[in-house]
Amino acid sequence: IQRQDIKAIQPKSESFQCPEVLGANHFVPLLDGRHITQIFLDNGASTKPFRVVSDFIRDIEPYYSNIHRGTGFDSHFCTERYEQARRIVGEFVGWDSERDVVIPVRNTTEGMNLLANTISFAPGDRVLTTILEHHSSDLPWRNKAKVEHLPINAEGQIDLKELERRLDPAKGRVRVVTMTGASNILGSVLPIHEIAALAHKYGALMVVDGAQLVPHRRVNMRPHTDPGHIDFLVFSGHKMNAPGGVGAVVGRRDIFAAAAPYQPGGGTVGSVSTNSVTWAAPPDRNEAGTPNILGMLALARTIQVLEAVGMDKVEAHERHLTSVLLENLSHIPQVKILGSRDPNGTDKRVGVVTFTVDGVPHGLVAAILSYEWGIAVRNGCFCAQPLMKRLLGVEETCSCPSEEETSVRGDRHNVPGAVRASLGIHNTEQEMETLIEAVSRIAQKQW
Ligand code: PLP
Repeated sequence: IQRQDIKAIQPKSESFQCPEVLGANHFVPLLDGRHITQIFLDNGASTKPFRVVSDFIRDIEPYYSNIHRGTGFDSHFCTERYEQARRIVGEFVGWDSERDVVIPVRNTTEGMNLLANTISFAPGDRVLTTILEHHSSDLPWRNKAKVEHLPINAEGQIDLKELERRLDPAKGRVRVVTMTGASNILGSVLPIHEIAALAHKYGALMVVDGAQLVPHRRVNMRPHTDPGHIDFLVFSGHKMNAPGGVGAVVGRRDIFAAAAPYQPGGGTVGSVSTNSVTWAAPPDRNEAGTPNILGMLALARTIQVLEAVGMDKVEAHERHLTSVLLENLSHIPQVKILGSRDPNGTDKRVGVVTFTVDGVPHGLVAAILSYEWGIAVRNGCFCAQPLMKRLLGVEETCSCPSEEETSVRGDRHNVPGAVRASLGIHNTEQEMETLIEAVSRIAQKQW
């Protein structure tokens, strides 16, 4: 496929201008010594912080102070901004400020561990999840209850009838249904409100891993279609153009109020004596020690930028680029796209396109993309080994390489894995065309 052959999918998204993300691309060296502008397609791992957000942090740094403690101006200033940030985060995902709390965490992984260690479980309780899950939203539940993984179809969707069968209390109480909002490998977007309605019908709590969903789609935790509300939503700032080290759990105040804190410490208490303690109300109860104050302010500022751009525009732009990728990659005979390859099905998927190239190991594809074309992708098993083993048809017991090993050993034929291009707000159609041309050449072993 040559660049001029690439079919544009109609209708084209309007030209997408987002000056706040200028700076996402910079020059990288190629093997032949040239330097070219990098095409960054590893947004599913981490995104570049918006320029305006980095500038905002630099401007606010002189006022930095601890919060909820000091009496000086800076402490009051930061406390007020921090609490405002909490409201901005909650509003962004449609919280109910009476019923829900926003608890800042380091990332989705920490948020999932917080929930697994807060929600009460009785002996014999079950947790229903899917085979799609990232390790971070699967493993934290495993030593709390019996975790069952629902299978998926070729489009990366679960069967809601099968879900309802598994919710049958005769099989044992399901305490939690926890699922990814969007798969970090297949991109499939699950119908989280329909799933939540079923979970609630059988008395289970609904937890959504929003790491790959919140950056790309408008999420409304409490739509009018109750009982389809989401009890807990977890996501990471570093995947939505905020700096690293901050994320959030948004969810039910009453559940946090019913449990002692997972991490006790400064700030979590009402009164302490040498032999007793009363806990503060959530969210304080669940925020031990000094939080990532600047991180939280940056997350809120990032959300303001995303809101100014409009999540509907973000979605339309990324859906258009995803259609272009799917349409063209699926015409390269040696390329196998994992999951749905329907360019018209982008309402049910985010911009994550994972593929293999027949006869070329994934590590080599990624290396050529990087060092010959300046295109950054990710390869390997993407911290979701159960899914990758299922998709690639390798033994459950086969060991996927560690992430570090993948890039070094991935040029061997026997290491399971694939290549993932994950899109962000700053990517362009021209970048998609370059990726398609590069993959096409690699598939024909022209390098
Ligand atoms: N869940 C999904 C779907 C992810 O893609 C990731 C990271 O890639 C995580 C959870 C973990 O996120 P973090 O590394 O920010 O904890």
